[in-house]
Amino acid sequence: MSIPKVAFFDFTSCEGCQVEIANFDQDLLKLLQAVEVVEFREIMKETCSAPLDIAFVEGSFSREKDRARLQKIRQRANLVVAYGSCAATGGINALKNHKPDYKYKVEVYGADATLPHLETQKALPISAAIPVDLAIPGCPVDRAEFVRLVSDLLHGKAPTIPNYPVCVECKKKENICRYELQDTCLGVVARAGCGALCPTNGIPCEACRGFVDNPNVDSLVELLIKTGMQPAYAAAKARMFTANLVEE
Ligand code: SF4
Ligand code: SF4
Ligand code: SF4
Repeated sequence: MSIPKVAFFDFTSCEGCQVEIANFDQDLLKLLQAVEVVEFREIMKETCSAPLDIAFVEGSFSREKDRARLQKIRQRANLVVAYGSCAATGGINALKNHKPDYKYKVEVYGADATLPHLETQKALPISAAIPVDLAIPGCPVDRAEFVRLVSDLLHGKAPTIPNYPVCVECKKKENICRYELQDTCLGVVARAGCGALCPTNGIPCEACRGFVDNPNVDSLVELLIKTGMQPAYAAAKARMFTANLVEE
């Protein structure tokens, strides 16, 4: 059997997920024994137009003109994997969608805001443009989960992503809850899979992996307000990584 060909592509993103994978160290070496990486702009100059077994796509779909490039990737690839929250849900880019005209360009770029490469639309998951076989959350992706899910795909096994909250993983690690330390935390509704990385390292979960299915966002906001947070700030905090899910 020939070794599967994979390629990495990027759209609207900070490229942090590519950097995370490039920094996989031993895990990357293991992955490279199982696949042939034929394109990955962050770490190599070669490009490829051959058919692909897996296309990994980072970043949101936030410009209509990117649709054609996404469609070409879809046509070439047996499987398309959206990796990182930008690609999986719109991620942090989708915060701009809550501005009525979602155009922060003038505030950011001033007189340059009309330059053609700054054209923008709402930040959406790439599944808004093309069918996606798997969406891996995380800002950035969790390397152990990435390797596990890719391994499942290569072995023809259905990949699974937890649908329970970060609190479950946090409790298993016997961490002291941030709320007991008079702090806040979104782990109560955040989707697990990262091993409760942030609370385990002494900082609150910000739900970078999005929420579990059917989260009780109203209760989360109420809980944040009970800690003394202003209601508007609590609502904004709840949608930091879930702006395409949580309404104003
Ligand atoms: S998901 Fe986060 S780390 Fe990954 S590209 Fe988007 S902003 Fe960067
Ligand atoms: S620190 Fe956060 S993730 Fe851990 S138990 Fe408390 S609310 Fe849940
Ligand atoms: S603990 Fe929360 S913010 Fe931290 S990596 Fe996990 S999901 Fe993301």
